[in-house]
Amino acid sequence: MKVKVVDNLCIGCGACAALVPDEFDINDNGIAYALNSKVKDNNKDLVKDAKENCPTGAISVEENE
Ligand code: SF4
Repeated sequence: MKVKVVDNLCIGCGACAALVPDEFDINDNGIAYALNSKVKDNNKDLVKDAKENCPTGAISVEENE
């Protein structure tokens, strides 16, 4: 599984990084980014939750990669 943050949709609320700090961080511009090229197996459900809870729909998940 891969996860991406669409920069121009993210408002930097920090919810994703708070929920899954292993997978998301906030950059110097206040925008979230994915920390890993592939989501760790034990974080997959949390990453899906982060996607569902992102207030702007900025998180996209590719299940098959
Ligand atoms: S939850 Fe969404 S809007 Fe908030 S920091 Fe993460 S990607 Fe950005």
